[in-house]
Order: sequence, then C-alpha cells, then structure tokens
Amino acid sequence: MTARIIDGKSIAAELRGRVAAEVQRLRIEHQLEPGLAVVLVGENPASAVYVRNKAKQTQEAGMRSFDHRLPESVSESDLLTLVGKLNADSAVHGILVQLPLPAQIDSQKVLNAIDPAKDVDGLHPNNAGRLAGGFTALSPCTPLGCIILTKSVHASLEGMNAIVIGRSNLVGRPLVQLLLNENATVTIAHSRSKDLPQLCARADLVYAAVGKPEMIRAEWIKPGATVIDVGINRTPLPDGKTRLVGDVAFKEVAELAGAITPVPGGVGQMTVACLLVNTLRAACAIHGLPKPGV
Ligand code: NAP
Repeated sequence: MTARIIDGKSIAAELRGRVAAEVQRLRIEHQLEPGLAVVLVGENPASAVYVRNKAKQTQEAGMRSFDHRLPESVSESDLLTLVGKLNADSAVHGILVQLPLPAQIDSQKVLNAIDPAKDVDGLHPNNAGRLAGGFTALSPCTPLGCIILTKSVHASLEGMNAIVIGRSNLVGRPLVQLLLNENATVTIAHSRSKDLPQLCARADLVYAAVGKPEMIRAEWIKPGATVIDVGINRTPLPDGKTRLVGDVAFKEVAELAGAITPVPGGVGQMTVACLLVNTLRAACAIHGLPKPGV
C-alpha cells in the first residue's frame, strides 16, 4: 500500500475537542449554552444508534442535548407541531430530524418547517440556496466533513481538479458547492454520466457518494490522487454475517492513491463532529456573536 490513510477517527476527535473549547468559552464569556434537539421517529435500529451517538457526543462537547422520540405511527401534523415548538424554544439552537421518516410523512415538508437558523443538517431549501449562491449557510455535515478530511492532506484546494460522484441533496450537491468555495474545479457525476472512469482519471480529488459497494476501481484513479469515500454499504459474507465497505475498492485503490479514507474510520466519523460544529455556529449566529473559531 502506498496511500496515506486519512484517519477520520483522530481528525474527528480533534475537531470535537476544538468545539468543546469554544463551547466552554461561550459559557464563560456570554453565558450561552448551545443546545441540539434530535427527533427520532420510529424504531429503526440504525437510526437509534446514530441518535444515541449524537446525544452522547453533544453532551461530551458541553452542549445541551434534547432527545425527542415519537412512535412510528405519529402523524405528520404532530411532528410539525413538535418542530414548531423546537423552533420557538430559545434553549434549542440546532434541530435535526433523523431521516428516513415513515411513509405517512412528507420528509421535505418537515425539513422545510425547520427554522433555517436552526437547520444544523443543512437540508432546508434556504440553506441549500444560500450555499449554492456562495453566501454564508449551514451546510450538510457529511460534505463539511469531506472538506475537512481533504484539507488534512492539502492545505489549499485551489485549482485542483475534483470529481464528485453522486448528486444527492445530502452529500453530492452541497459538496460541489463547498469545493467551489475552495476554488477547486469541479465535475459532478451521477447515474447518467458517460465514461465515469475517464472523468475520474484526471481528478486530483475523488469523492465517492454513490451507495454501490466498491464501485470505484484502481484503474479509474490518477496516481497520487486523494480519494474520499463517503459510501457505507453492508455486504453479505459467506458465513451469513455482513461487512461494511465503501464505494471505493479500498485495497486496490490504496496501492496508487496518494491518500484515502477507510470505511469505517473515515468520513463517517466526521459527520457527528460537524453536526456539533454547525450547532455551535448556529448558536453564535442566533445570538449575534461572531462566527466561532471552529
Ligand atoms: P443517494 O441519495 O442514493 O444518491 C446516490 C447518488 O449516486 C445519486 O446521485 C445517483 O445518481 C448516483 N449513482 C447511483 N448509481 C450510480 C452509478 N452507477 N454511477 C454514478 N453515479 C451513480 O445516496 P446518498 O444519500 O448521497 O449516499 C451515498 C452513499 O453515502 C451511501 O452509501 C450512504 O450510505 C453514504 N452516506 C454516508 C454518510 C456518512 O456519514 N459517511 C452520510 C450520508 C450518506 P442519480 O442522481 O442519477 O440517481
């Protein structure tokens, strides 16, 4: 293996430490305690793990954590009522409604109901539009994490050729905007793109956010490129167990990439840390304080 492994776990831990220091400063200097409310609907075990993890890390950073659990059968109007209450609650600076939501609920309607100032998931159209326009915005956490990981390798992304494979509102599209803000030259690819290997071949930075196990192969990658793997895929093993793999064929790509994120231990570690960053930023903005040092 020649690639440097980008250690998402330690970079995320360092980021959480910086958030905690800023939270302490806000408490001392401004008597402000940032608060994050997370809403979980139903019993999806994966979502429950994410939510538990978010609450734990929020508290460890010195912020207030508000946990709201609603039954799978909850009506859309009851969920909207809760969002309205959280919007009005001055102790809450960030609101996250864990996706996916049950079929009876229009997810976009719920996301649209969140006060954009508290939209720490960055999925409200106001924030998406502001980000696309190059204005200050709360941006989705996973793409934010991808940029921080890339900058652990390259101090500046200016003029670099980047390709983002995947165009979801959660990852691909906001990542493109963040890369543009860093003055990278960006190609965005998706399921209708032609000749993906050739598009990848000239990229200095490759971001895979597709959801297809090990789709990105070594022969697509320019030697020395930095490869950031967002994919989280569970693949079956012969013994009936499952294994977590990314969208990148890690072993072979690591032979010629310059740097690469592992799965697990890469991007996934950054998402919650960036949620804390967004909550801190939201709290400062709501209170008219300067942007924090994180
Ligand atoms: P998504 O909404 O399903 O979007 C997938 C994107 O990939 C779509 O834009 C789709 O194109 C594109 N695509 C599908 N097949 C393709 C192909 N053969 N060639 C090129 N593009 C293709 O998924 P997502 O929410 O962005 O998530 C992507 C992956 O990241 C998943 O594995 C997910 O679990 C993971 N994820 C990880 C984190 C984390 O914290 N690490 C966070 C979020 C997501 P079209 O638009 O044309 O359909």
